[in-house]
Parts: sequence; structure tokens; C-alpha cells
Amino acid sequence: MAEDCIFCKIVAGQLPADFVHRAGDIVAFRDIHPRAPVHVLVIPTEHIGSLTDLRAEHSDLAAKLLRTAAEIARELGVEGRGYRVTVNTGPESGSEVAHLHLHILGCRQMGAMG
Ligand code: AMP
Ligand code: ZN
Repeated sequence: MAEDCIFCKIVAGQLPADFVHRAGDIVAFRDIHPRAPVHVLVIPTEHIGSLTDLRAEHSDLAAKLLRTAAEIARELGVEGRGYRVTVNTGPESGSEVAHLHLHILGCRQMGAMG
């Protein structure tokens, strides 16, 4: 657990969250400021700062994060109509929280990336 990391605090139960998935080394919860009717964050319970910090030993975990995102999208009913999965990384991405997370966005028509 990283000190002052809000997502580590959510994992530890020190901050509340609206969980949609909790299993082993991955949890998912609804974004507190949703940018779409479905806006879920999928995170590893281990503190990994960003995509840049992924190492070879995280390969299984990285694959599992993607598979879990797809599973959650199916469970939340957006698989058929489509959804977006994004990972913001670094200052110009607008990233706010330095704990690796996948955004699942769905239930609205997405515009172009950028
Ligand atoms: P990013 O900009 O990619 O770092 O995304 C961080 C996301 O975390 C933003 O969409 C925030 O709205 C969201 N967020 C921040 N604090 C919380 C929280 N306590 N619970 C749920 N989502 C949060
Ligand atoms: Zn953390």
C-alpha cells in the first residue's frame, strides 16, 4: 500500500467505494465523477503507479485486468452496444490518480479520441 494513494485506501477499506467487482488481486468500482452512465475503474490491489511501471512480472496481472474489464462490461450490459477502455498515463493524459486503473466507459455514444 502506498501512503496517500486514494485507490490503495479504497482497497484497504479506508475510503468508501461503490464496488462492482472484488476478487483476489483486482477490484472495480464506479467512478465518483462519472463521464458516462457506465463509468467503472478497474484496478490491481497492488499499488502500481501507472502503465509505465508495469514490469514483466506483471504480465499475468495486466492480462487479467483487461479480461476483468471485458467481463465487467458484459455484466453491466454494455458488451453488445460497445464501450471504451482507457488508461491515462502521465501529465499530458490528464491523469489524476497515480495508481494504475482502467476506465470502462459505456452507455453513451463516444466521440472521436483526443
Ligand atoms: P485518471 O484521470 O485517469 O487518473 O482517473 C482518475 C479517476 O478517479 C477520475 O475519473 C476520478 O473521477 C476518479 N476518482 C477519484 N477519486 C475517486 C474515488 N474516491 N472514488 C471513485 N473514483 C474516484
Ligand atoms: Zn495505490
